[in-house]
Amino acid sequence: MNNKSRISSFSSTLLHWHEHENFRSYPWRGEKNPYYIWLSEIIMQQTRSEQGLPYYLKFKSHYPTVRDLALAPMDTVLRDWQGLGYYSRARNLKATAELIHSQYNDVFPSTYSEILKLKGVGPYTAAAIASFAFGESCAVVDGNVIRVLSRIFGIEEPFDSGAGKKAFDEKAALLIDKKNPALYNQAIMDFGATVCVPKSPKCGSCPFSNQCFAYQKEMIDVLPFRSKKLTIKNRYFYFLHLESKAGIVLQQRTTKDIWQDLWQFPLIELATPSKRGVKAELKKRFPAGSTYTIEDEWTHVQLLSHQKIHSFVFRISVPDLKLLLQEDWQLVPNKKLDAFAFPKTLHLYLTEKKLI
Ligand code: SF4
Repeated sequence: MNNKSRISSFSSTLLHWHEHENFRSYPWRGEKNPYYIWLSEIIMQQTRSEQGLPYYLKFKSHYPTVRDLALAPMDTVLRDWQGLGYYSRARNLKATAELIHSQYNDVFPSTYSEILKLKGVGPYTAAAIASFAFGESCAVVDGNVIRVLSRIFGIEEPFDSGAGKKAFDEKAALLIDKKNPALYNQAIMDFGATVCVPKSPKCGSCPFSNQCFAYQKEMIDVLPFRSKKLTIKNRYFYFLHLESKAGIVLQQRTTKDIWQDLWQFPLIELATPSKRGVKAELKKRFPAGSTYTIEDEWTHVQLLSHQKIHSFVFRISVPDLKLLLQEDWQLVPNKKLDAFAFPKTLHLYLTEKKLI
């Protein structure tokens, strides 16, 4: 089979497979409005469809147009995002909506190259919007697509290297069905998400098994290759849930770090886990002679893409909190906690303790 017929056979096999599968019909499937496609793509990054669905519906109903999102207060958007994690996505959504409002007169850009200029929009999302909304022939290349192409065509360049990125982009651009880019992109993503999955792919029922390089060469477990080892940084967060009759203390995370702009309890971050270390810190922070009691301790581990956050919440009752208040601390009555956006871990804590 020559190269040209191999390409057209790949896309027709893929489209044929897709046509005969029954996929759960999510509201963003077949969507043509670029704003809604963009919302769904940003919400679904690092999020399962089931988990993202209520957020997608909430954003569509609270901000039905890009203008509504642009004009909404940041705090409200963050509160609506609460629980989804990776909050830079929400901040980028808001910043981009503001840009579309001010510079594009509320009209979503309509070409791949214009969409790619938007903040927080990478090549994958730009290709998805351009193909789904405007029928532009741009191939999506995400983790699913890389896995499928690497296995079927035996692309051995590491996908996280410059040469690898180029190889996958070129192959994807060559394979896309130019007459039907939206359907093709949807099909290859669905195929990677349901058949050619990372562990135990369904090779037995796969329409490509007789031509799949990885299957023939028994390289399924090793392809695609990665060049760099992923390093995960451990961080140890000791939160102080300081409570008194007047309420509890919150502070906003203002530095460029995870959870920027969200609210938390006063935090002691240590390089290694050490209860003794945190108690010594507490002694320094509480004025001499002040009384406090550690009532309770709660722990939780959250895995982010490059960090593992070990959180410990110490519930400490303090008779007179006002003595302790620092400039960036806010004393908040319990019944007002609902108005603040918290990182997922603290939201879980507050929910478990029935404080929100
Ligand atoms: S044969 Fe297996 S590894 Fe190859 S494309 Fe199909 S599911 Fe993926």
